[in-house]
Amino acid sequence: MSQGTLYDKVWDRHKVTQLPTGQDQLFVGLHLIHEVTSPQAFGMLKERGLEVAYPELTHATVDHIVPTASKERPYSDDAAERMMAELEENVTGSGIDFSHPETGNQGIVHVIGPEQGMTQPGMTIVCGDSHTSTHGAFGALAFGIGTSQIRDVLATGTIAMEKQKVRRIQVDGELGEGVEAKDIILEIIRRLGTEGGVGYVYEYAGEAIEDLGMEGRMSICNMSVEGGARAGYVNPDQTTYDWLEGTDEAPEGEAFEERKEYWESIRSDEDAEYDDIVHINGSELEPVVTWGTTPGQGIGISEPIPEPESLADEKVETARRAQKHMRVEPGETMEGYEIDVAFLGSCTNARLPDLRRGAEIVEGREVHPDVRAMVVPGSQRVKAAAEAEGLDEIFKEAGFEWRGAGCSMCLGMNEDQLQGDEACASSSNRNFIGRQGSKDGRTVLMNPRMVVAAAVTGKVTDVRELKEVSLA
Ligand code: SF4
Repeated sequence: MSQGTLYDKVWDRHKVTQLPTGQDQLFVGLHLIHEVTSPQAFGMLKERGLEVAYPELTHATVDHIVPTASKERPYSDDAAERMMAELEENVTGSGIDFSHPETGNQGIVHVIGPEQGMTQPGMTIVCGDSHTSTHGAFGALAFGIGTSQIRDVLATGTIAMEKQKVRRIQVDGELGEGVEAKDIILEIIRRLGTEGGVGYVYEYAGEAIEDLGMEGRMSICNMSVEGGARAGYVNPDQTTYDWLEGTDEAPEGEAFEERKEYWESIRSDEDAEYDDIVHINGSELEPVVTWGTTPGQGIGISEPIPEPESLADEKVETARRAQKHMRVEPGETMEGYEIDVAFLGSCTNARLPDLRRGAEIVEGREVHPDVRAMVVPGSQRVKAAAEAEGLDEIFKEAGFEWRGAGCSMCLGMNEDQLQGDEACASSSNRNFIGRQGSKDGRTVLMNPRMVVAAAVTGKVTDVRELKEVSLA
């Protein structure tokens, strides 16, 4: 008998009870915390004299405010130093593991969980951060939560949630050269809208998804929330198990094989029923870039920017405003749009394979003289692995800044910010006005190779047209 989707199965296995509110109380298998959203929740706990219920299921890192130029203490920014000191105080003696910069394990919360093997199929994972959906790439149910929910999870190890509907997004076909996971998710959000996923969890499936490595699956799940979905996931398979085997937290030998059997059992059944199914032909996609100020305002690199009036009524005004802010005209393509900054980083696209692909493009080229370009690895481990392969030298020789791990210019909570009306080619996930630290800044989202192509040409460029580049 069908037990349904992975979402149904994992939900049912973690459900403690139904609450009088109608919500379900779910047990939380992993609670990731960072310096920005946890202090208030710890404060609430202290006020009530409560202890952290499951410190062994809680893990801390520092990412948003951490400087990426130098991690020397005290940090030059007082607010950043205060937040770091508060996190240190909250976790010290609590039994909570902390990927502190001194451990060499620090990094963006959605990079370190998977890389240390904390993120595993069939788990429930929460974090006070929207892009917690990233962890769904492993077949986990992963949700971003708010401050009072962080308090609840710290105090009880459980959370009250409403069950969502499940939309299967079936991406068939093979991706063309130069087309990546980022293009798939930008296309999905463009088609379904930034609110299209409200009330849903997205299950990503189909040949184009199965062919992706874990980093690509993470890029896609990461941006589920940009499409309005509460979470996104991919059913676990051999690619997932290959990634996990040998990580710090994964079981070993026999135990790994046993766990694998369980992981297989929680995959969505063949005859599972979905509330909605959307089909996308992956072989028809081209690199997608944004022209506006939401991740849903995207187009294929060769397509014209739409006339606002050609869009649905509720999108007309936002499109007009976005085009004014971005200084783009309907009918033009984004190709040739001049940029001042190139940012290769963030929890969407700063894992080792992202940096490798970027380095292949940049090798033998130079950053355009009018462009400030930076690579910000997603974690200290990614940085060290990239350096062991000599990627840092390739980027530095070309004129990129090679930074320490953190969120950096994804949101500009540290010193890495756009200035004035600078335009930025960014591998991150949000292009909202002001997102990168300047209210007049202009962000163009794209895949990591496209960011590097823009860095060397000084403008948005179809990476497939750069000569002598292997895009295999
Ligand atoms: S990299 Fe950006 S999106 Fe990811 S956790 Fe940091 S600030 Fe949030």
